[in-house]
Amino acid sequence: MARIADLIAAGRTFSFEFFPPKSDMAQLTLGRTISELESLSPSFVSITYGAGGSTRQRTQQLVQWIRQETTINPMAHLTCQGHRRSEIAEILDTYAAADVQNILALGGDAPADGSAEPSDYTYASDLLDDVLASGRFSVGVAAHPEVHPRSPSRDSDRQFLAEKMRRADFAITQFFFEAEAYLRLVDELAALGVHKPVIPGIMPVTNKSQIERMAQLSGAAFPTWLAERLSTVDDPDDVRQVGVDVATELCARLLEAGAPGLHFYTLNRSTATREIYANLDLPVKG
Ligand code: FAD
Repeated sequence: MARIADLIAAGRTFSFEFFPPKSDMAQLTLGRTISELESLSPSFVSITYGAGGSTRQRTQQLVQWIRQETTINPMAHLTCQGHRRSEIAEILDTYAAADVQNILALGGDAPADGSAEPSDYTYASDLLDDVLASGRFSVGVAAHPEVHPRSPSRDSDRQFLAEKMRRADFAITQFFFEAEAYLRLVDELAALGVHKPVIPGIMPVTNKSQIERMAQLSGAAFPTWLAERLSTVDDPDDVRQVGVDVATELCARLLEAGAPGLHFYTLNRSTATREIYANLDLPVKG
């Protein structure tokens, strides 16, 4: 069983996100990470796609390698801004031919320097239409518990998300640190009549300055209590330990509240995720 819609229907999913490495050394690190995480029997792993197609070849190669050379079920991220319909059709054909059955349909971001390529797409929902019309994939979309930074209001963010989710199989969220942000999102979707699975995205803190920058870019709140907990530590191992403890508490709360799974932003490293798995006593291959 490789379609994520079917996996979610069968029970909770536990999944990991990787990005395509840029150098030979980074490639080796990711190879080691994937082999270490394979023993946790993830339900699926997902591979990011550089905005405007900047990692098109590397994302495809990594997704296909995982499909062919490991026992892990891959999902390919695909962003649509900066793409023509014909390019998206080609990419979808390549994945279908490699028996990749899952796509995360994303809007992506225009380059900050204004050098955007001509595009047949504006929003993720345009791409979602094309992926669904191809009829070959289980399709997920992105959700933003603390509201997407470009949304003019919470209400409009939820309306457009609900509209995507009525057609997609599931959503995966941007990372967040307070369970309430996720629970409120799920309630707001339910109020709009949407009850599809929303998988929370978990980012264990492993580096103080990096996480603050990432939170700022993605619109995730960086709570004072977390800044205070991190202010007591400086040694990288101690920072990671605080990050693992905080993520473990968040995951436990989300699972208790009925989340349909957990999706870990690994940043291509395995240690923090493996420690959280052990703390939560999640199933590991014998
Ligand atoms: P959209 O659904 O298009 O939403 C973008 C904004 O437009 C929102 O404010 C929304 O409310 C609004 N909107 C949507 N539809 C309409 C409409 N019809 N009219 C007016 N406004 C509308 N980025 C990458 O570059 N590569 C990745 O691999 C990647 N993976 C991600 C994985 C996850 C789980 C998440 C949560 C994000 C990921 N991102 C990735 C980031 C994502 O591409 C950005 O957050 C992007 O700015 C928005 O993507 P989206 O799919 O939410 O877009």
